[in-house]
Amino acid sequence: MRMVRLLVTGTPGVGKTTIATGLARIYGATIVGLDEIITPVLKWDPELQTYHVTNENEARKLITERLKTLNSYIIDTVAVNLIDVSLIDWCIVLRLEPTQLMDRLTQRSWPHCKVVENVLAEIVGSSLVMAINMFGRDRVIEVDTTNKNVDEVVNYITNRIADRRPAVGVVDWLDDVDTNLLISLSKELDICLS
Ligand code: ADP
Ligand code: MG
Repeated sequence: MRMVRLLVTGTPGVGKTTIATGLARIYGATIVGLDEIITPVLKWDPELQTYHVTNENEARKLITERLKTLNSYIIDTVAVNLIDVSLIDWCIVLRLEPTQLMDRLTQRSWPHCKVVENVLAEIVGSSLVMAINMFGRDRVIEVDTTNKNVDEVVNYITNRIADRRPAVGVVDWLDDVDTNLLISLSKELDICLS
């Protein structure tokens, strides 16, 4: 089996863990959860309700050490910046229509502000921008998962990889999203940040 070294990223709730699992099955690759590797340098931030990396250099070192022991791996993470680019062949960025993402995140019983922040991050494409910034357009595959089942998403990705075809600029939520939703989310974010 060919070696694959993939990173699966995107806003929380877009389906990273689900799709990484599907890809790992197809390729016979190991799924690497970054959180478990960098546990020694993670600290819970009760205000932001999220983990915070206390030492980025140490985190990078721990990740590199672990990845070097593996041939094929699929990393599921939002923390794209912690991974050495030379250890990844393709960065997969999953996208999901923002109102559907809102529904999924609302089910997580997260604080409302955390939902708002993440839906806005999806609308502006924060994950995609970070991925392009780290890996360059030639190594990014952006995938619109909206109304696609897991098999359809996995097939799309494996076909792109087989054909060595990157994809960027696949969706533009800013153009698609209702202006009133955008305004109300921005107002809510202001309140959250105040
Ligand atoms: P992430 O790891 O990015 O936070 P998850 O993989 O946990 O996202 O998926 C979030 C939720 O969405 C889960 O309940 C999962 O079953 C569901 N889900 C993921 N991908 C799809 C899909 N393509 N179609 C429908 N539901 C999905
Ligand atoms: Mg996950």
